[in-house]
Amino acid sequence: MPAGDREIDMWKLRDIISPFYAWKRAFEKPFTIRKPLVEREGPPLYRGFHTNDLGKCIGCGSCEEICQNAAIDMRRAAGIEPAHGDSGLRPVIDYGRCCWCALCVDICPTTSLAMSNRYNWISETGEDWVFTPGIDDGGWNEDELGYRRAECAWLLDPSEQKMPVIAPDERRKNFEEMALGYGGDEAVKEAVRCLDCGLCIEACPTHMDVPSYIRAIRDGDLDEGLRLLYDTNPFSESCGRICTAKCQDACALGHLGEPIMIRWLKRYITDNTLDRRHAVLGT
Ligand code: SF4
Ligand code: SF4
Repeated sequence: MPAGDREIDMWKLRDIISPFYAWKRAFEKPFTIRKPLVEREGPPLYRGFHTNDLGKCIGCGSCEEICQNAAIDMRRAAGIEPAHGDSGLRPVIDYGRCCWCALCVDICPTTSLAMSNRYNWISETGEDWVFTPGIDDGGWNEDELGYRRAECAWLLDPSEQKMPVIAPDERRKNFEEMALGYGGDEAVKEAVRCLDCGLCIEACPTHMDVPSYIRAIRDGDLDEGLRLLYDTNPFSESCGRICTAKCQDACALGHLGEPIMIRWLKRYITDNTLDRRHAVLGT
């Protein structure tokens, strides 16, 4: 018999025998475990279902903003009223969308949002996969074994840009303004720290659109920043120096580091548009 024909016969023989090998396995002890019916604890730092300390959460929405899968929706939570520095909203998470990346945990300025090491949840109803962590308790709210942001792993700079000032020896000799004002680099570095949460808008007595004028600094468009300032506050130049800055008390970043120096950023815009103020504002 030619060698090629012999090889074909071998393959046919294997085709006949191989199903019996498979059946032999049916009587062996299974290698898999009966999941998810058998509960098995996730390891420490496992990224399971979220937990949220509702007393610490300020409803800043940074978790919603950073989520690349649009899995988070900020909604009013029963029994939580808006207050100074707290929008009253809380994150609701759709686990049909979540990919467990934990960016929301890493950005949370209050560290209220964390993850449990629980991953078992059985339900055939789609709505059951949308939870408000901290309110809808699947039994893991108190779980502290899952992922949480390490103290050193902060996505944004928690320290403010210091305002340059006249040295004390010089200061004694004149009545010049002590604070010199931010330069361009300092202003942009301070502006990029902003989480864009808008808690400052509610805190400001005239509801200035702070995140938008901070964004204008970041984008290098000071004329737009000036227009935004004077939209709601005709005393922006003075407020950039002497305002009590209630907005800074409400700033989400203040929970972990120093709040954004909103007053100094306002001053930066007015100081650096003096030569064209009337043209920009049409006054
Ligand atoms: S980022 Fe943190 S503090 Fe802000 S809404 Fe989300 S959970 Fe609350
Ligand atoms: S873990 Fe990632 S995907 Fe899931 S809600 Fe948080 S940011 Fe969105």
